[in-house]
Amino acid sequence: MEFKTDALLLRSAEYGENDRMVTLLTADRGKLSAAMKGVRKAGAKLNFASQPFCFAEYVFAERGGRYTVTGASLHDGFFSLRNDLTALYAAFTVTEAADALLYEGMAGGALLVSAVRALGALSEGGGTGALVRYLLEALSLAGYPVHAGECPVCGKMPSGRMRFDMGTGSFTCAACSEGVPASESNLLAMQTALGGEIPAGGGALRALRLLKAYFTAKTEASLPALGEYLHLTASAE
Ligand SMILES: [Zn+2]
Repeated sequence: MEFKTDALLLRSAEYGENDRMVTLLTADRGKLSAAMKGVRKAGAKLNFASQPFCFAEYVFAERGGRYTVTGASLHDGFFSLRNDLTALYAAFTVTEAADALLYEGMAGGALLVSAVRALGALSEGGGTGALVRYLLEALSLAGYPVHAGECPVCGKMPSGRMRFDMGTGSFTCAACSEGVPASESNLLAMQTALGGEIPAGGGALRALRLLKAYFTAKTEASLPALGEYLHLTASAE
């Protein structure tokens, strides 16, 4: 049986003499692993579709529950991301987070839209703020939303020194929870991103650090590319 669906490449691994096994985030079937035969041969036509960040309409053949990619037509390869190491690690954060949040069989359409939009924003220099917006969207789609409103303990809007509670994904007053220390700029950056805008400045960077910790608390994924991104960004300041 053959079928087509839009998909983003999350990762690929070499196997056999000339082949790759790819893991894709598809619009119609969530996360899917498929073989790509012969793509490491010189001049292989489908090589592009086994490269990082390839967003394409993929054609699959299914046989006995195994999938093979038999064709692909490129929507976007986000090639400009490869010119800048910091942007490259930001882009790998997008695919590594999607990979960690999705299990095989889970619907992936909304996450695909979010991931492709994030890669587009990063290609245009969106940086830290684009990652904050994306991680908030992705975590919410996976059932781990962040709340940047009233303190869930006392109902007041947290201000000044505050905390972030990993259990509920909420900002609280300093006195209302045992969460990690957080700041008003941190909360503001999250509110901006939750409103669909791209936050900027030091608040966005602190929000990104907090989201890394929250992501790991929820999924146990350590997001090594995000660690590298934060490292490079901190040393550039
Ligand atoms: Zn409170």
